[in-house]
Amino acid sequence: MRPARAVIDLSALRHNYRLARQMSGAKALAVVKADAYGHGAVRCAQALEGEADGFAVACIEEALQLRAAGITAPVLLLEGFFEASELPLIVEHGLWCVVHSLWQLEAIEQARLSQPLQVWLKLDSGMHRVGLHPKDYQVAYQRLLASGKVAKIVLMSHFARADELDCPSSTEQLAVFDAARQGLSAEISLRNSPAVLGWPQIPSDWVRPGIMLYGATPFETDTAASAPLQPVMTLQSKVISVRELPAGEAVGYGARFVTQRPSRIGVVAMGYADGYPRLAPNGTPVLVDGVRTVLAGRVSMDMLNVDLTDVPQAGVGSTVELWGKQVLASDVAQTAGTIAYQIFCNLRRVPLQYV
Ligand SMILES: *Cc1c(COP(=O)(O)O)cnc(C)c1O
Repeated sequence: MRPARAVIDLSALRHNYRLARQMSGAKALAVVKADAYGHGAVRCAQALEGEADGFAVACIEEALQLRAAGITAPVLLLEGFFEASELPLIVEHGLWCVVHSLWQLEAIEQARLSQPLQVWLKLDSGMHRVGLHPKDYQVAYQRLLASGKVAKIVLMSHFARADELDCPSSTEQLAVFDAARQGLSAEISLRNSPAVLGWPQIPSDWVRPGIMLYGATPFETDTAASAPLQPVMTLQSKVISVRELPAGEAVGYGARFVTQRPSRIGVVAMGYADGYPRLAPNGTPVLVDGVRTVLAGRVSMDMLNVDLTDVPQAGVGSTVELWGKQVLASDVAQTAGTIAYQIFCNLRRVPLQYV
């Protein structure tokens, strides 16, 4: 059997969830969209059920997958519905629904619903992605109430730059949010992972941690705030071949790596078809038999090369950690010019193994 796999540590996931709740002193929706950032939404939700205040996903397809697996906790649709025809299902399955646009508000007003909805009314406080304009916010709130189709409304917004701890943008967005909700007494939800970890002064009744649940830092440079996170995924494989090369030999496609000294190069069963970033440069950290070494040469579809020259005890069969508790996914991602969010989401083909 091919040795490539992603080992998912569910106790680390629970640790990180508890941390999000502790740090914020708020209720926390565990964000498990995009198959729990590649970690397997059903298994992750099952591991958190019983203690999670609820879950958040991107669309009804993801929510129904959780319901089909027997998850009964609240599930929030972060973009609400995409078509009004989803509304009966939303009610039937007791899903919570973001309203981010006036067309959604109108659809709710016109819908015939057997039970009232739980709505999270989203304000565009400055990110300019989705959310109602501040001038429409109070009116939308009143119209939802007047529709008679809504049981409860939570007020929410989303930060564009909470991962930049020196940037005033989040404070400015908070001020816009506070002004827009003046006079409304409803629960609020603002903070994603970087805001939970880095902005303790920002209020929230509900937080929405995603990446931090999986133990990766949302910050570009690992700050002290992320230190207590425990990485959940270990992407691992084994060395399947080793060659000894003199100095001056090129390795792999495009001869991107050329040995500078007599070298031992190991081939690992892991490639970009598994989601390992093809753009990872020479020198990207890799752990072989517990020793840190580096990627050497271009990543192929099913294999990649590592420099074993300074890991003399390693050979065919040695265990390789591409990322995990020693080599952080965020470090690999940064070296490859991307973010941990993306390298997790890109994962495919490798079996997930839960411990
Ligand atoms: C994805 C998402 C989150 C989670 O973000 P992280 O940075 O992973 O914590 C929170 N809120 C909304 C609206 C989202 O779309």
